[in-house]
This record gives sequence, structure tokens and C-alpha cells, in this order.
Amino acid sequence: DMEQGRVRKLNYKSKKAIRLPRDEWIIVPGTHEGIISRRRFAAVQKQLAARSRAAHGETQHPLAGLVRCGMCGGKMELTGSGPRRYYRCCTAAKSRAACPGQPYLPMHDLEKLVQSKLQTYTPQPLTYALVHALIQTIVVSPPENDRRTIKIIWRF
Ligand SMILES: [Zn+2]
Repeated sequence: DMEQGRVRKLNYKSKKAIRLPRDEWIIVPGTHEGIISRRRFAAVQKQLAARSRAAHGETQHPLAGLVRCGMCGGKMELTGSGPRRYYRCCTAAKSRAACPGQPYLPMHDLEKLVQSKLQTYTPQPLTYALVHALIQTIVVSPPENDRRTIKIIWRF
């Protein structure tokens, strides 16, 4: 929507402006195409409200249980410690015959990516409740020509 008339100058000489209440703004709906549809935006806001009411105890890792291997469809788990934590395919860790595996994915790389995608919907920080409210699965594929494909499957 296009919003105008949000502030008013005190008088024509003054540079000072006062903020007007929202119901006095001039709002012209649908002047440009949104980044996401209104329907999606509304669905996300509803989910967020429901989840933030339900969210208690943030002890789990934000992306826990969501990351899957694009080679075999199996779960990817966190390995390593401290700043050197990586996702690796659970199947490949047990048997290379079941999954050829793929290079480990640094945890911070994936978190940064997810955070940047979520910015479209909310400025809230990456938490377990938020991520699980919005994301169903994250599918990680091995790099091809130095580019890794990471597919986020949204819940909405
Ligand atoms: Zn795998």
C-alpha cells in the first residue's frame, strides 16, 4: 500500500513535523506488487502469533530436526563442537553404500541463509519456535560448480 500524509508541518516556515495518527493517513491499497502475497503474509502473522503464545523454553537448536540430505532424503545431524559445527548426513555416517554423502555444511552458513530468508517475513531472531512455525524441511544438496542448493520447504 502507498501511505501519504503521515506527518504534518507545524506551519509553512517551520521544518518541524508532527506524526499523525494512523487513521488520519492517506492509504492507497495495492499501488505496487508485494514481496509476498497478502494471503501468505496474513497466514504467517497468524502462525507467529499462535507460536509465540505457545513458545516456552528455548533450549533446542533452532534448526533441530529440519535438515535433510538431498542425496538420500535422510536426516542431517550436527557434529563437531564450538565454532566448528557442521551438518552431516546420518545415513552416510553409518553406511557409504546407503548414501554417498556430501561435504559437511557449516552450521553458521545454514543459519545465516535461513535468517536471511526469514527476514522477508519477520525481523524476529532465529529461534526454535519461529523456525518450526514457518519451515517444514530444509533440503541440503552437495555443491555443484561451487554452488550449493539449499531448498527451504515452507509450511504455508
Ligand atoms: Zn544422505
